[in-house]
Amino acid sequence: MHAALQSFHLARWRGGDDSVEAVSEAYEAAFLRLEREEGPFNFDDEAEREKCRLNGLRVIAAYLDSPEAMQEKPRAVEVLLKEEIPGLSVPLTGAMDLVEGNFTPVDFKSAAAKPDTEHAAFDHEIQLVSYQLLLEAIGESPPSLDLVFLVKTKTPQVIRVKSAPADAHRKARVVALLETAVDGILHGRFHPQPSMHCSWCQFRNECKAWLPGMTAEEIHRRNAA
Ligand code: SF4
Repeated sequence: MHAALQSFHLARWRGGDDSVEAVSEAYEAAFLRLEREEGPFNFDDEAEREKCRLNGLRVIAAYLDSPEAMQEKPRAVEVLLKEEIPGLSVPLTGAMDLVEGNFTPVDFKSAAAKPDTEHAAFDHEIQLVSYQLLLEAIGESPPSLDLVFLVKTKTPQVIRVKSAPADAHRKARVVALLETAVDGILHGRFHPQPSMHCSWCQFRNECKAWLPGMTAEEIHRRNAA
């Protein structure tokens, strides 16, 4: 889905083919590439694979049909920025899915259910404010920080969640959170931090095996024993 959106936005940006057919082709190519490079996937049968393929395609069609589909020429698509940010000891690096003409960064999310707008903005605060910091570092002031959710309900929905640009306090908080992560990585603080997201974590076995100082190889060896 991401590849299909990218192909649509790149076409609008560069004046290429932004037709439904071209976007569908990008989707199909990405689907096959994922199967080839990251598969095999455990589809029960061909019917299940087809259902999965069509579900994604339906969501993309819903986006292209929605008022959220980019009509103008974007300012940028998937452009990598790497900037020095005051208070951060490493350069901040990020690639925004889309930057609209007025410098609003937009990040696309797929979701199984309709998002709660307040939670969504809170959950993605670090990412959105980081985009603002990157844009400000190149002299631009985004008027809004946006998420567009592609919701995979029976009838797909496209929902935009807008956040006001961060003030000095919010920016300082995000920089401090990023710096806390940098410090943790630098000092090897990779300890478990059990919380609500453990219920959908894929690394619970590794997490159970963890003791201070263990390397990833030691953890895998212990789990394999
Ligand atoms: S189960 Fe996953 S999310 Fe929970 S503490 Fe362990 S690694 Fe973190």
